[in-house]
Amino acid sequence: MREECGVFGIYGPDEDVSRLTYFGLFALQHRGQESAGIAVADGRDITLYREMGLVSQVFDEATLERLSGDLAIGHARYSTTGSTTLANAQPMVAEWRGGKIAISHNGNLINTLALRREMEAQGETFEASSDSEVMLRMVAREADRTGTVEEALAACMPQWHGAYSATFLTEKSVIAVRDPYGVRPLCVGRLNGQATVFASETCALNLIGAEFLREAQPGELIVADEDGLRSRAVLTTPRQALCVFEYIYLARPDSKISDRLVHEARRGLGRQLADDQPVDGDVVIPVPDTGWPAAIGYAERSGLPFGEGLIRNRYVPRTFIQPDQRLRELGVKIKLNPLRDALAGRRIVMVDDSIVRGTTKRGIIGMIRDAGATEVHVRISAPPIRWPCYYGVDTSNRSELIAARCSSVEEIRRAIGADSLGYQSIQGMLKGLQIPRRKLCLACFTGRYPIAIPKDVRLSKLDLEESAWREGEEEPRAGTPAPSPTETPG
Ligand code: SF4
Repeated sequence: MREECGVFGIYGPDEDVSRLTYFGLFALQHRGQESAGIAVADGRDITLYREMGLVSQVFDEATLERLSGDLAIGHARYSTTGSTTLANAQPMVAEWRGGKIAISHNGNLINTLALRREMEAQGETFEASSDSEVMLRMVAREADRTGTVEEALAACMPQWHGAYSATFLTEKSVIAVRDPYGVRPLCVGRLNGQATVFASETCALNLIGAEFLREAQPGELIVADEDGLRSRAVLTTPRQALCVFEYIYLARPDSKISDRLVHEARRGLGRQLADDQPVDGDVVIPVPDTGWPAAIGYAERSGLPFGEGLIRNRYVPRTFIQPDQRLRELGVKIKLNPLRDALAGRRIVMVDDSIVRGTTKRGIIGMIRDAGATEVHVRISAPPIRWPCYYGVDTSNRSELIAARCSSVEEIRRAIGADSLGYQSIQGMLKGLQIPRRKLCLACFTGRYPIAIPKDVRLSKLDLEESAWREGEEEPRAGTPAPSPTETPG
């Protein structure tokens, strides 16, 4: 039911914008691997190309040649809000009385259903089933009324509740918007002194050789067109709520978010984990790839040697972002292979970033034991995930989350077959990240949602009525109602 995507945009009349967008999407491929698309404008019209598949599969030289223009937006998608079909691939294009508009959206609105019903009652029809199409059609209708896409966006933003970092394309401008909580990252860069670039992560700027200018501010609308770059603060909130999972797992380690290099943040989590969850072992190994920095930090602080014990086939997508359970289970086996000589006869301390459903972890631990390890101790750099995400990350229904299903860490340990299991605490996570709590969304650990979730949306993911969780004072009992946005403590 949701998506985690990569968005890109470039206003660069003197640049090869479609090829630069292609490379930008290439750098953002880790954020979505089901479909990719580019919309390009030349001052008069917008041309769109999108297909199912990886960026490198979707585009070839001939396709990029046909996408010529001066400005472009791009999208790499992982589907969940809306099914895995071409109709839901992005960018999407709509028409208004002044021309066309295209959207590339990362995040998830929580009031999509209400907005869509209202529009359908007024005669609007939809081709896809995603929140992004609702956003696009709202902007088109609003533009019919206001006369400009910029004004239409400013009018729509207060009506969108939830997470959105998005780029919009018109025939003559690229416009970036970010929700007032800043849940998903979005940055602004400059290429060759004049082109403006927007991207989900700074790694996309790095790849195309653009200089990082700044982050898009929560609630900000930024326009790049022939008059240059202008910005306005459309919405403000008393707090921010950047998804902490961007640091833990989602973003690329070579990206910087809020001035913090993701690799450093993950390493800090590993160091803190070693302080709080020490264990006797012979070697610390990461679960590749996202567990690497935390494992390095854990080894540094614990003094235990660091080693590789699992080799990843780099051409298999991350199992966490494969939407189907059958593919996920198969993915464990085709994704990782144990280094038997490094594991046999040793006590392994295996460090990873998170446990979602537990199936992947169980498979990996079994693999390590089969390779001859005498003990497998698991250390997790994030706290237990016990609440679903409504803001654009596929952490599943509560009934699928192992930490929501089990009543204790000990029960999870037994379920995944480890000799010991240690999670990071929420306080430990904040200390390791060195980012203030008031800037982050921690809802999948705490159940305290910074943007209030409508009841029907909340119920759709709360398959568990009760949880017997008894560990830790920081976490509320399951079933505790989510506070409203302004009431949310830190
Ligand atoms: S609920 Fe969790 S995954 Fe979703 S935005 Fe908040 S921290 Fe991120």
